[in-house]
Amino acid sequence: MADEEYYKATTFEEKYKALTKGTWTPELAKQNAEQVAYMCMCGKCPSYAETEEYQLVFCTIGKSDRIQEQKGCLCDQCPLTKMMNLRWKYYCIEGSAYELSDLKEL
Ligand code: SF4
Repeated sequence: MADEEYYKATTFEEKYKALTKGTWTPELAKQNAEQVAYMCMCGKCPSYAETEEYQLVFCTIGKSDRIQEQKGCLCDQCPLTKMMNLRWKYYCIEGSAYELSDLKEL
């Protein structure tokens, strides 16, 4: 399989394990979020607007304390979704990709 095909076929869980050896801590999530914040679309999202939220990358850090209403979601247009093969949305309300994934069961 060509590299690009392999990359597309690899699940979020497989990528996450390869990057972090399957470990999750709040510190690690924060560190990872800081590294990719420049790619995040949350700041432009209708659900984010007018909420006084200032944090980003909810797919990594988990639920927002300030975003409560689903007013639209840009998650599926975000480069992080493509990069990590994320398959959920509304991470700001539902929780991080790690929490929504099969990794939590392992
Ligand atoms: S709905 Fe998705 S893109 Fe919008 S703020 Fe929440 S996590 Fe970010």
